[in-house]
Amino acid sequence: MRALVLEDYDKFVFRDIPIPKIANQDEVLIKVKAVSVCGSDVHGMSGATGRRLPPIIMGHEASGQIVQVGDGVKKFSIGDRVVFNSTLFCGHCDYCQHGMVNLCDERKVFGVSCEEYKIDGAYAEYIVVPERIVYSIPDRVSYEKAALIEPFSVGFHAVRVAELGLADTVLVYGSGTIGSFIIQSLKIKGAGKIIATDIDDDKLALAEEMGADYVINSKKTDAESEIKKIAPKGLDIVFDVVGKASVARQGLEMLKKGGRMVMVGLMDKEIAFPVQRITSWQLRIQGTYISSDEYPACIELISSGRVNLDPFIKHFVPLSEAPSWFNRLREAEKGLHKVIFNPEK
Ligand SMILES: [Zn+2]
Ligand SMILES: [Zn+2]
Repeated sequence: MRALVLEDYDKFVFRDIPIPKIANQDEVLIKVKAVSVCGSDVHGMSGATGRRLPPIIMGHEASGQIVQVGDGVKKFSIGDRVVFNSTLFCGHCDYCQHGMVNLCDERKVFGVSCEEYKIDGAYAEYIVVPERIVYSIPDRVSYEKAALIEPFSVGFHAVRVAELGLADTVLVYGSGTIGSFIIQSLKIKGAGKIIATDIDDDKLALAEEMGADYVINSKKTDAESEIKKIAPKGLDIVFDVVGKASVARQGLEMLKKGGRMVMVGLMDKEIAFPVQRITSWQLRIQGTYISSDEYPACIELISSGRVNLDPFIKHFVPLSEAPSWFNRLREAEKGLHKVIFNPEK
């Protein structure tokens, strides 16, 4: 099969490699029909994160069709249209037993290679995965939309762990794909005012389309004073989708007492926080990592048409054109919110 291999940092090659084989009874072979590009691939391919050590086949937001099943597979048959969790979890550790598969003791994310592990992803024609991480998708959900179930689940999970209260005033800092899916999840779950900030007008227009009530370009205006006008008593929740120290710090200072700061982005490794305020204002700093058992709910929301994925499926392109699309993504081309590859072309 053909696979897109990150041979060295910033260097892709197409390679003919053997189709992966089913090695365990509970595995299925999936023909990949659509796989979307994650921001972590774009950042990781240059070596910036240490999580794409070459050589590696990246890609963890994928959908496809089952073409072969292991002898022990119970829930799926050949021909089934499916997605799979981006995290390969063990299914039996304490975390898995309690539905927190994203925290599994043996977790591995597809298409990631770091010091602890390496596991090839879905920028290829086929992939083998165990059935416990596979989910069926209804016929009315296209493969390219199904590839977005993973990133949508990341936004949905972030809102879930934030324990959103009814009519809470919320700030979403960073309005790319994940920010957009956080905004949509907030609408679904009954948030009050939703404020989106970014430094890119294009992304702010997207945030507005997703349902943000206020959008603020923090490069052009003093975001803090604008936000104070909208929420004089402070914010209930801030989602830091960027993960930069300066953003997190500013977000924390705009929380009201009892507020929650949800850390979604992974840019900076360490951030200094005002500990006295966290204590005396009873603030909460909450991490959120990928998603856990939200796939069925996300599939339901997407298939019922309650999630707007249209701005993200505009570029469904052949995998053979991947290197040039990665360049365009790296240069943050205007209007290029998401790229989805078709490995059959
Ligand atoms: Zn991702
Ligand atoms: Zn586990």
